[in-house]
Amino acid sequence: MIIRVGHFYPEYLNIYADRGNIAVFAHRAAARGHELDVRAITVGAPLELRAYDLLYVGGGQDREQAMIAPDLAARAEELRKAVAGGAALLAVCGGYQLLGRGYRGRDGAWLEGVGLFPLETHAGETRMIGDVLLESTLAEEPGRTIAGFENHAGRTVLDAGARTLGRVVAGYGNDGTSGHEGCRVERAIGTYLHGPLLPRNPWLADLLLSWAIAHASGDEPGPLAPLPDELERQAHLVSAARARERGGRPAR
Ligand code: GLN
Repeated sequence: MIIRVGHFYPEYLNIYADRGNIAVFAHRAAARGHELDVRAITVGAPLELRAYDLLYVGGGQDREQAMIAPDLAARAEELRKAVAGGAALLAVCGGYQLLGRGYRGRDGAWLEGVGLFPLETHAGETRMIGDVLLESTLAEEPGRTIAGFENHAGRTVLDAGARTLGRVVAGYGNDGTSGHEGCRVERAIGTYLHGPLLPRNPWLADLLLSWAIAHASGDEPGPLAPLPDELERQAHLVSAARARERGGRPAR
């Protein structure tokens, strides 16, 4: 099966090797006999977002976010319809922030967001940097661990009742105080975790892939054939140990 992937602004939003997540999707899809057709979504390019099975947006500094935010906000309705239609989506850090209602950067400027995620973000004085370990709050994989790296000034506050990606075991997460990280709406997941995220959390890559395959086939999501994942397992353990050792401690 061909899985159609839309990669938002790869030339602007790609720090901490976030584009590596696309390579993981491609590798894990190919291992199951599927092929990824990846298209870059660039500023001003007219696009039918509902044509995509999987949408992806990486992280970026305030400056880069400001360069793409108006274009992304202009696609808000189209993007919300794509997710309501069952497309899978992964958004990392700066991209995650702009899929909420908006982001007030260090310079005080407000960047209007897409309003897909029920949240808002305001930059604080200090940056929250370090290794992170989460316990998943996803209904599909409750309690499973997620390991990564964060570096953000933004403090993200979710609306009451919003679904998260995980509970923070080590690290700052959304705002350094709530004890939670990320947000989930339908098959869309937003997170602060860089690294890139997916090489050290292959089960999360497979969950998103299973949603994208379901969107492409029109079937219900189903489990994918297991892969050996020895290297991925080792990378996860090393990252998790680093987080426990020196990840930030959210103020409880
Ligand atoms: N510029 C945003 C912040 O500082 C996002 C940073 C990022 O994507 N790592 O919070």
